[in-house]
Amino acid sequence: MDLSPGIAYFWDRLSRALLVPGSHVSLASLFCALAIAFLVLALRRYRRNRPIHPRVLFRALFPKRILLSRSNFADVGYFYFNIFVFGIAFGWALLSYDMLSRVVFDALAAVLGQPRPSALPVLVSRTIITVMLFLAYELGYWLNHYLSHRIPFLWEFHKVHHTATVLTPLTNFRVHPVYMCIFLNILAIFTGFANGLGQYAFGQGTEQFGLSETNIILVFFIYLYVHLQHSQLWISFTGWLGRLFMSPAHHQVHHSRNPAHFNKNPGSCLALWDWMFGTLHIPAAEREVVDFGVEAEREDAHTIWGELIAPFGRAAVVLGRRLGMRSPQPAALPAPDQTRA
Ligand SMILES: [Zn+2]
Ligand SMILES: [Zn+2]
Repeated sequence: MDLSPGIAYFWDRLSRALLVPGSHVSLASLFCALAIAFLVLALRRYRRNRPIHPRVLFRALFPKRILLSRSNFADVGYFYFNIFVFGIAFGWALLSYDMLSRVVFDALAAVLGQPRPSALPVLVSRTIITVMLFLAYELGYWLNHYLSHRIPFLWEFHKVHHTATVLTPLTNFRVHPVYMCIFLNILAIFTGFANGLGQYAFGQGTEQFGLSETNIILVFFIYLYVHLQHSQLWISFTGWLGRLFMSPAHHQVHHSRNPAHFNKNPGSCLALWDWMFGTLHIPAAEREVVDFGVEAEREDAHTIWGELIAPFGRAAVVLGRRLGMRSPQPAALPAPDQTRA
């Protein structure tokens, strides 16, 4: 049996994820996050007059308790799984992105007339469209994440991400394929809408600034702190900075087992939308999250069954209950106006 096409496909997907500099999990961005983490730890030890040994720092950043945990193994499994599924889902999303861009452009042209050539320099047009697409990405991310916490059916799929009891950059990939598909399509709607608007305002073919086709502002945040959001390292932005940017500690609060933190900070790189819509919790300067997770550990936690297959069953139960509640029972229910008595 010739295995080479399979191996070539596997290698292609893996290298696209790790070697393309604008990828969400490029090795370059992971090294950047690692360097920042070393620097922060070293600085903290320096301030406390404690010795700075690379070995000690390494152990602090990669404790065995985390590396060998079942939660981490599940993250690694999901990482590989999503490298394959991601490609398929991304294909669907791209279709809707292009289609939506065109629909919005055509609708604007039909209502307001054909666009006139933009008087702005190309550099300015491209900068504005880059910011628009980044904000659209952030808003789409926030909305999808918010709904995944608020709608019980969606929560059963998103919960998979929250059953992680340790956080590493690979936890970012611990997302159920159903969550991923909904996420990518909501994202396509928001970014497609923004792009259609931008194409109409600045001329067709105006492109955002990007690195390997990823929005350059998003790439900046991926290199700066997105990986550290899924880590044990408490780096907190407080004050006005904490209202605008989603520091690693903001997202660690989102993963907290403390009920006071539930449903807080569903934003991505920016805290802006959380601030605007009332879901922001600015983390304290000192660590305030003790444990990560969402419920008492199930028997099947961190297994393929528990984190990939069972969510379908649990979501079906939730849906069944919801539909059951809505089934008509005229004899048992009072007339609507009697309930207001
Ligand atoms: Zn997370
Ligand atoms: Zn969440």
